[in-house]
Amino acid sequence: MKHTGLRKPFALTALCAAVAMSSLHAWAVTDQEILNDAKSTDQIVTNGLGLQGQRYSTLDTLNTNNINQLRPVWGFSLGGEKQRGQEAQPLIKDGVMYITGSYSRVYALDARTGKELWQYDARLPDGIMPCCDVINRGVALYGDLVIFGTLDAKLVALNKDTGKVVWKKTVADYKAGYSLTAAPLVVNGKLITGVSGGEFGVVGKIEAYDAKNGELLWTRPTVEGHMGYVWKDGKKVESGISGGEAGKTWPGDLWKTGGAAPWLGGYYDPDTDSLLFGTGNPAPWNSHLRPGDNLYSSSRLALDPNDGSIKWHFQSTPHDGWDFDGVNELISFDYKDGGKTIKAAGTADRNGFFYVLDRTNGKFIRGFPFVDKITWAKGLDKTGRPIYDEAHRPGNPADADKGKSVFVAPSFLGGKNWMPMAYSQDTGLFYVPSNEWGMDIWNEGVSYKKGAAYLGAGFTIKPLNDDFIGVLRAIDPKTGKEVWRYNNYAPLWGGVLATKGNLVFTGNPEGYLMAFDAKTGKKVYEFNTGSGVIGSPVTWEMDGEQYVSVLSGWGGAVPLWGGEVAKRVKDFNQGGMVWTFKLPKDLVAKR
Ligand code: CA
Repeated sequence: MKHTGLRKPFALTALCAAVAMSSLHAWAVTDQEILNDAKSTDQIVTNGLGLQGQRYSTLDTLNTNNINQLRPVWGFSLGGEKQRGQEAQPLIKDGVMYITGSYSRVYALDARTGKELWQYDARLPDGIMPCCDVINRGVALYGDLVIFGTLDAKLVALNKDTGKVVWKKTVADYKAGYSLTAAPLVVNGKLITGVSGGEFGVVGKIEAYDAKNGELLWTRPTVEGHMGYVWKDGKKVESGISGGEAGKTWPGDLWKTGGAAPWLGGYYDPDTDSLLFGTGNPAPWNSHLRPGDNLYSSSRLALDPNDGSIKWHFQSTPHDGWDFDGVNELISFDYKDGGKTIKAAGTADRNGFFYVLDRTNGKFIRGFPFVDKITWAKGLDKTGRPIYDEAHRPGNPADADKGKSVFVAPSFLGGKNWMPMAYSQDTGLFYVPSNEWGMDIWNEGVSYKKGAAYLGAGFTIKPLNDDFIGVLRAIDPKTGKEVWRYNNYAPLWGGVLATKGNLVFTGNPEGYLMAFDAKTGKKVYEFNTGSGVIGSPVTWEMDGEQYVSVLSGWGGAVPLWGGEVAKRVKDFNQGGMVWTFKLPKDLVAKR
């Protein structure tokens, strides 16, 4: 912004005052602001409330003593007939909220009033192939740009004031089944994201782009055997970076369509200068077609942000035969062990085990079940590798149409799916949104065809209990102990937020934003938003008051893939709203 509006005629004052506000604040989001996001309480410029993704806020104005005074202050409808799952986390910068909606839409809203400032609609082509609803998980902010990924596998950077396109980049071919759903992250000017499409036999990849102009900087395929590359001054550096040996953990040619899509994106740990990403299932699901561990599917990866090379990997489900994926967020945290600080990372896998890794080298520290029932493995060995119960691997169809069907828990929708957990620096606990369900699963023959589903499996998901599927759990990563749990009738599909006010927030498909006492698990607040909450709540401070915001809008993978579970939730209303709450100043009670 060049003008301040101070010498404009009176009639223009109101308009210019608004412009002047933003120019005085020098909006441009810097690398330093992004690195400091976990500590700044007046803005949220990263997915995860900090690059490590702990989803912990140091705000304590709102706390267990006064949360009953939390009030809705505005709601905003995303509009249109496109009311499907809303999984985004809002970002907040200088009094403006940036969100994404279903079908690759972006909105800028006045965070004080909910007034729409602009809206961008990606106008998707026919033939997009999202596996699991037309969702998006949020934007990244950098400089004057609002950047997000679309369901036709493009990155789009918009001007933060106008919503006009500044640059656009095709990341992959949507006709081959690629799409983008993750919120990108920005590390030192590099915009980094992962692709979706493991159900279509894509080759997963993590890529870095120059956030300012969208130039590709490096690409790191996540199926062993594929080379990674770095670009300098727009030219590919010819000696590629090896991603292991082709065919070593994959037979024949299957590595060429091996899946392992890092569809949930990732986080960054400044202490070890590592990008921490998870990777999805090997393709196809039918594991009998691909003997071997099938690296780097169903794994956690630490990448060097400079060139995308793999520093270490930890594979949670080698030779995955259940679509357990391995995309779940790997969250950095430190803890003391005999006076020594352990630089750890925690992750709750779809396969039902919680893992604590040494984030300096990827070594397994400990692992334990975090769900009530795991049938496919008898446990973990000393290295964290599952001890398989082969009776629970769906049978080889060989020449038959269908192999032996087995009942497995958890179901492929996972002990925990995409919905991000939170880590509290006060309690030292992880707050994990999880589900108790199993599945009948069987294998079928399949061959790769571009743009077609590539599963070689059939399934029916079933609840394990009559009265609940979802469980919000407080888990001690040092002992594996479940400190408390909250059972929810419908499966939980929303993110979690922890605060210094001893609060844990999440939502449920029944429509409630809920808050719990972080220490005891007692429910201390709920508000019905009118549709299922499957987005991730945030909190920030504005004008000296603490705000909370969350998207509402039922959808996501459960209604599409959930079998008998989908029947249980079929009457939940769809929607598409942002709800914003605050604790008014005059209602702040003393702690
Ligand atoms: Ca998958």
